[in-house]
Amino acid sequence: MPGKKTDRLKKKDTKSAASNVTWSDRLHYFEAKQEEMVRTIRELVEIESPSDSKPAADRIGTFLAEKFAALGGDSKLHHVQDFGDHLQVDFSGRANSKPVLLLGHFDTVYPMGMLETMLCGIAGDRLHGPGVLDMKSGIALMLHAIEALQTWHHGLPRPVTVFLVSDEEVGSTSSRKITEALAKESAAVLVLEPAAGLRGAVKTARKGVGEYTLKVKGVAAHAGLDPGKGHSAIIELARQILAMSKLNDLRRGLSVNPGVIQGGTRTNVIAAEASVDIDVRIKSAKQAAGIDRKLRSLKPFDKHCKLEVAGAINRLPMERTAGVAALYEKAQEIANHLDWKLQEAAVGGGSDGNFTAGMGIPTLDGLGGVGEGAHAVHEFIVIPELPRRALLLAGMIESA
Ligand SMILES: [Zn+2]
Repeated sequence: MPGKKTDRLKKKDTKSAASNVTWSDRLHYFEAKQEEMVRTIRELVEIESPSDSKPAADRIGTFLAEKFAALGGDSKLHHVQDFGDHLQVDFSGRANSKPVLLLGHFDTVYPMGMLETMLCGIAGDRLHGPGVLDMKSGIALMLHAIEALQTWHHGLPRPVTVFLVSDEEVGSTSSRKITEALAKESAAVLVLEPAAGLRGAVKTARKGVGEYTLKVKGVAAHAGLDPGKGHSAIIELARQILAMSKLNDLRRGLSVNPGVIQGGTRTNVIAAEASVDIDVRIKSAKQAAGIDRKLRSLKPFDKHCKLEVAGAINRLPMERTAGVAALYEKAQEIANHLDWKLQEAAVGGGSDGNFTAGMGIPTLDGLGGVGEGAHAVHEFIVIPELPRRALLLAGMIESA
């Protein structure tokens, strides 16, 4: 948690890189903007944007395109059929260097109508609402950091590309190619996903994620008249799930979770079909092929049942490469000016940062809001953390 305003600047107050504004001036600037930042976040939260509603996602995409254009950015929507259009904004900078890519998403996991049922608005130090942490506060930080840099430098010190996608929460299938193409042109990628935990750590490693479905085809029969003739897909599935649970290797960061099961039609029918949806997490890219092969080579216990496995590892892990570590060091340097011991974390969840880090582009994730309850009804951010998060992002845009 941040200290009182006066506690935050203990180090000698030097001028920040490439601008004449001291670190204390910068912090005061963002502290004065805190309420405005909260207003921006609330505006974004109040435009609900579930991944599976194109009209809703397009509404917030258009709203954001205008917001970034008002700051002088060149906003462009990438048309998508099944999801909201993705938003790319290019800002020119004074230096002729490669841009830094600010990456995020404006879709949320919540269906429409959650504004009515979820806790929303300010309660003490906290701001609640659907997507407030994951990751509408991160988008607001982008807007305010860009605005601040323009004030301090009379224009941006270097080119900046903002890319906000509409399908991150459902696997980024329609945005991945664009994310990768933009990352390739960039010096570094800063991902505004939520920070890790209330300590606000940035994320320097993320697990890789896979999604699989195992379908079992059995042989139906009347449970009363012909119990001996059937081959139950449900019993076969149950045995497969137990076998699958042995593939877990938590010590090596590998997990296999049968998350959703379906099967059968009636109690008096021996089930002809059953299936399970499986979430797989891996810690290193090397584990991908092994677990994929093991899942695909599952054999039926009952020879009369057939197995069908579909799916793949969707995101390779974001590994803590030298490029990632170097970005973290820069972030620590900036935080040190505020006597802030910025920590790093390795987390189990994936993000689009997995794609860009997997390409070897230096990527730092978890630069967004600080809070808890992402994807849960108590989702919130800690309001007094906003000024120093904005300061950190502005500093990273300058030096990444
Ligand atoms: Zn997210």
